[in-house]
Amino acid sequence: MSETTRLYYEDAYLTEFEAEVVEARQLEGKPAVVLDRTAFYPESGGQPWDTGTLGGAAVVEVLDLDGTILHVLDREIEGGRIRGHIDWPARYDRMQQHTGQHVLSQAFWEVLKGETRSFHLGPEVSTLEIGLASASDADLDRVEDRANAVVWEDREVKTYFVPEERIGEVPLRRPPKKSGLLRVVEVDGFDYSACGGTHVRRTGEIGIIRIGPAEKIRGNLRFEFLCGGRALRDYREKDRSTRKMAGAFSCAAAGVAAQVEKLGIEHKALKKRARKLEERLAAFEAGEVVRSAPGRIIAAVLEDRTPDEARFLALNIIKSGEFAVAYGAPGEGQGHLIVARSESIRADLRQLVPVVAAVLPVKGGGGPSLVELVTPETARLRDAVDAAEAWLKANA
Ligand SMILES: [Zn+2]
Repeated sequence: MSETTRLYYEDAYLTEFEAEVVEARQLEGKPAVVLDRTAFYPESGGQPWDTGTLGGAAVVEVLDLDGTILHVLDREIEGGRIRGHIDWPARYDRMQQHTGQHVLSQAFWEVLKGETRSFHLGPEVSTLEIGLASASDADLDRVEDRANAVVWEDREVKTYFVPEERIGEVPLRRPPKKSGLLRVVEVDGFDYSACGGTHVRRTGEIGIIRIGPAEKIRGNLRFEFLCGGRALRDYREKDRSTRKMAGAFSCAAAGVAAQVEKLGIEHKALKKRARKLEERLAAFEAGEVVRSAPGRIIAAVLEDRTPDEARFLALNIIKSGEFAVAYGAPGEGQGHLIVARSESIRADLRQLVPVVAAVLPVKGGGGPSLVELVTPETARLRDAVDAAEAWLKANA
């Protein structure tokens, strides 16, 4: 197999190029071509492959097969000399994220002695796994400040090749994974990495580096981070939503978190209070229902009650005398049937479950004195209540 010349090694800003098709193949049923040279970056080192077009066909995947770069296409193309076009906004975004990663990795090392264990450049966010068990907000602020200072110094990002036997002369941040001629990416005097990826020319093009949330993994911390355009879009979105919340609370943006916390506490207290009032109301209503009850068996569909309210009411009724209650109540996307009886009635309510199930589809169960069934057929709750009522009349 022939070694493909990588045009992006020389110039990561090259978006249009001409090349010769040296081989046409198939990869899992899709057409694929090998070129004598390419500006397409294949998937490697945590950086995804470039997209774009080759001879008018869309490039759907780019693979590095031991030095031969294979371009998988969405359709067949003519051989010979063809033109390639790189999707530049997507490539530039990755150049910002990838160069930002070099700077951030070195800042983690310099400030906290945190080694980079792995890097992944995702379509939305990128992640960096750092050999640290923990890091405080203040620690992370120091790392972020250092990384952004290097961005604003607008240092040159240089790439050069060093033979393996002389690589010891380069103060690499991590030992190289490959052998032979090594490509070094140097953020002028700050970071030295063996890397085959695409990078911006100067750190100023990274724009800004923002460290996001972290999670613990394999005893390390895995951070999300955003650079350049991604960081701007994230800031824009968060700023808009914070301002919207600040408007709703009539407070300053910085006061939103405190307002949300306060609201949470109030909400909890109100829920507790509402629960107490519901209980008192249910006891009162139970008295009303009992006074006007036609007999020991009470059955109804309570259209304007939640299942919780219907259950409360039923439990209060059976406590205030000898009663059996079958209530239907509409829930979220399903109807509830609640059947309860007083202790003095001996019937085992679990036996009515198959009787109701014979009428309409239901799920659920319960104990001898209380069963609760749900049905997706909310409109047929009346049938469920009727079936339960008939059973209670015959058995309770
Ligand atoms: Zn790199």
